[in-house]
Amino acid sequence: MVIQQVMVQGDLLAKLGTMQNMDGSFSIKKMYLHLIPQHPKVPWKSLALQQNIHPQVKFILWLAMQNRLATVDRLQMIGIQAPMACVFCHGSIETHAHLFFECHVTGALWLRLLTWLGHIRNRGDAKHELQWVCMAKRKNGLGAIISWAYAMTVYVIWRERNLLRFEKSTYDEDRVSREITLHIHIRGPNLRKWRKPLSLLSLYP
Ligand SMILES: [Zn+2]
Repeated sequence: MVIQQVMVQGDLLAKLGTMQNMDGSFSIKKMYLHLIPQHPKVPWKSLALQQNIHPQVKFILWLAMQNRLATVDRLQMIGIQAPMACVFCHGSIETHAHLFFECHVTGALWLRLLTWLGHIRNRGDAKHELQWVCMAKRKNGLGAIISWAYAMTVYVIWRERNLLRFEKSTYDEDRVSREITLHIHIRGPNLRKWRKPLSLLSLYP
């Protein structure tokens, strides 16, 4: 019991030691930082927190980044039955990774936008694409546009998925790619960093 008390006191003193300023005075700021929960840093955080994104887009992106959108594989895990096939290609089970953008239909939209942005390449799996976008975002104005296009594409794919699944609508890659690029062209001129790279892009992909 006494040993336990000594250990607790020792632990407390060690903790208090980390909350001191250089001159030995107590730092409220350091104590506050000590008390708030420390979560591991996630690479996509800056992507979801970027400015000038519509809150609706941000919300869907935030859920998607945490794999929390209600895709059918997740619904099945909690006992909700729904047709399993991807509504875009009808050839695979709908999962987060498949929708963003391992599916050849949604992947074609993403590649079309990337080509418009000057990046002609094959697409990787969902994890690779997310990492690539996070890296691109840090670089320059074009990187910021790429990350914005990614956020919009995730949002639009999820919206189109719901329309296809619940309202039997039709998907048109031309329509959605124009919608995304139009948003970028409208938003861009107000953002200093975007102006130059945007002026080099064609109107539509
Ligand atoms: Zn598919």
